[in-house]
Amino acid sequence: MPSRLERRRRVSSTALANAAWVSNTLSALRDTLTARHHSRDFIYAYGHYLRSRVVAMGFIFLLLSPLWLLIDAMMLPEPLHRFTLAGRVVMMVGFALVVWWAWRSEEQIQRIRFSTGALIALPALFYALVLSLVPPGDSQALIGYSFIPFLLVASLSIFPFTLIESLLAGLLLQGLLTFSQQVAGTWLTPVGFEEQWLLAALLVVALTANHFQLSLLLRLYRQATHDALTGLLNRGALERRFAELEREAARTGKVLPYGLLMMDIDHFKQVNDTHGHSVGDKVLREFARVIALQVRTGDMVARFGGEEFVVVLMGADITNASLIAERIREAVETATLFDHDGHPVPVTASIGVACPQALETSEEVLKRADAHLYCAKAKGRNCVVASDL
Ligand code: GH3
Ligand code: MG
Ligand code: MG
Repeated sequence: MPSRLERRRRVSSTALANAAWVSNTLSALRDTLTARHHSRDFIYAYGHYLRSRVVAMGFIFLLLSPLWLLIDAMMLPEPLHRFTLAGRVVMMVGFALVVWWAWRSEEQIQRIRFSTGALIALPALFYALVLSLVPPGDSQALIGYSFIPFLLVASLSIFPFTLIESLLAGLLLQGLLTFSQQVAGTWLTPVGFEEQWLLAALLVVALTANHFQLSLLLRLYRQATHDALTGLLNRGALERRFAELEREAARTGKVLPYGLLMMDIDHFKQVNDTHGHSVGDKVLREFARVIALQVRTGDMVARFGGEEFVVVLMGADITNASLIAERIREAVETATLFDHDGHPVPVTASIGVACPQALETSEEVLKRADAHLYCAKAKGRNCVVASDL
């Protein structure tokens, strides 16, 4: 029989676990509700993923359309053919355009989003058009059409839409079903209610799939791009961001200026040797927090390797970058970092600064900043060197 103390300890650890679960679920919901909290970098990765799905689904819809023409020819009465044939041809051209547009829109998130919307809207518009064109009473003959809203709601789950996006699309499709029921005369009948109920249930399933799909994407993205110890960007993510910036500059002809700081903690081996590795890790986490507090939201802070960090100050020239480097150096020197027993661990850092000169790649800027860092070490450490000045 566990003691009272043991029972109380178990209850409080269960309460803590439950509170953590609730907080994780709420933050996952915040992330999947809208794209407002997604980083620019994630939106790029998301765009890639969305684009591949739009191209694949567009192809599938494009291939299904001519097959459907055959079914129309077999099932529909002769006078209805002219309504559907023209509509299907227009829709096939639309699908081909969507695939072509999405294919050509690499890294252009707005265009990719637009093509995704068009992919869902095309069959819905086609159905609405056919319904409004068929003579009254003939809509019963449209065999194989009434499942279009259901098919589209189900296909919402294939895309990593946010909950708001999916909900809006689902409500529009519910409106399409209502319109079809009014044309067919089943609106507000038991059959009509049953269909509405089924569509709403499918929408809930699609929303659940969207939530889990987007949360998984976000989690995988964070694990792949962030350093587990400090939570900063990792080296691979930083290099990909530079590659994106360079591609964007090549496309638009506009080179975005930036200041690059390469920093290394001074005598860090001594910290490990004196206090142990776990204090070293704690110092790295604290150091990361101190530098992240000194920069703006659009800037990038990355752990480049062991105890080397890179800060990219977007839009900064060499004078500004040097001033911010000096501010970071001072913040590190004056921050009080502690070991596990609360004893202070003095930490300083050396910083090399560089800005891109004409046509210089990020790799070359990094090399120059690294050379300046070594000058700073040679000068006696705990200082900033930006020899371009
Ligand atoms: P310097 O002033 O010349 O930079 O001297 P230093 O002692 O800092 O020399 P160096 O930069 O070569 O040392 C890097 C040390 O950082 C060696 C390694 O043990 C330690 N280190 C690298 N990654 C980690 C980590 O993740 N955790 C801990 N605790 N230590 C790490
Ligand atoms: Mg060092
Ligand atoms: Mg080092």
